[in-house]
Formats: sequence, C-alpha cells, structure tokens
Amino acid sequence: MASYSVAPLQKLIEQFEKLPGIGAKTAQRLAYFVLNMPKTEAEEFSKAIIDAHEKIKYCSICCNFTDKDKCPVCTSASRDHSVICVVETPRDAMAMESTNEYRGTYHVLHGAISPLNGVGPDQLKIKELLARLNNQEVKEVIMATNPTVEGEATAMYLTRLLKPLGIKVTRLAYGIPVGGDLEYADEVTLARALEGRTDL
Ligand SMILES: [Zn+2]
Repeated sequence: MASYSVAPLQKLIEQFEKLPGIGAKTAQRLAYFVLNMPKTEAEEFSKAIIDAHEKIKYCSICCNFTDKDKCPVCTSASRDHSVICVVETPRDAMAMESTNEYRGTYHVLHGAISPLNGVGPDQLKIKELLARLNNQEVKEVIMATNPTVEGEATAMYLTRLLKPLGIKVTRLAYGIPVGGDLEYADEVTLARALEGRTDL
C-alpha cells in the first residue's frame, strides 16, 4: 500500500469500499479511474447519485421505485390489476418483469419478516397492500417472496392475513433449475419441486 495518503483520494476509496462486492483493491482502482475522468464526467457521475436519491420514491400504489406518483405498471391499461405479485425488493419485481410472462401488477414489501434482524411486519409495506385489497377488486395475490426462512415466514404471515378476505393466494413454485441435476439438488429444493409439480 502507498506510504503516504491523500485525504480526498482516501475518502473516495472508502466510499467505493462501502459498495457491495467491492474489496479494497477494486475500490482503489475505481477511485483512480474516477480521478482520471474529465471533470464534466465526474460531475455527471455524482449528479446521477444525487438525482436518483432525490427523485426516486415509492409508487403510491405498489411501493416500487418510480419518479412519478404512480409507476408505469400501476398506470398501465394493458396490465391485469386484479392480480398482485408480492415481492421483497424492486429488483425482484424487475426479475419477474424480465420474463415477459407476467401481466399482473406488483407489490414491493421492501424486505421480509426477520425477527433475528429486528424486522417485523410493521417495517414492511403490508398496510399498503391491505389498503389496495380494500380499494380495488383483487382476485389473486401471488407470493413471490424468496425461498428463504424469512421469505417463507413472510409468505405464511401474509397468507394468514389474506385468506380470510376470500382472496386466492398462490405461491411461486420453486424447483430444480433448468439444466440442473436432480442428484445435486438439496432436499428442500427437491421437496418444493415435488410439491409444485404440474400436470403434463
Ligand atoms: Zn406501482
């Protein structure tokens, strides 16, 4: 490591080190790269971060990220507004969207129930979901939370809340990845795949 340090450069390196998946070496490389950018480019870069923070908020219906009051999915006439797919994060909604198979709407919880990390139902966008169910006709809610302990607990909790309202609640089927080998699948995955089997 350098025997001397330049404070502003050190500070920049530290900022990059905060990013997920970025180690000390990479942070250093990125900091030097940014330092060598033309000033206008560096300004654009920092402005993009600030703009994203200032302009992006939660959709007033589904709580996904948007820069308007309502997101494009919630305002689209070609989507089926009677189906809501519940996901943990905006990235999960994006993943569903990239399949081009889903025509319903989303609801982003912004996390999952995790008592160990002090995350209870109140910290998630659950009352926003219940408000939607009161305000519009919803036929089906698809639980697309992650197949983790937290994701399963969240799906169970919501199912218990929604079932009494007479809403059809479904869960994504999880199973063997395409190109995967049965032999190498863990037993939980295999059990879920068996549960979610379909007619041929
Ligand atoms: Zn929305």
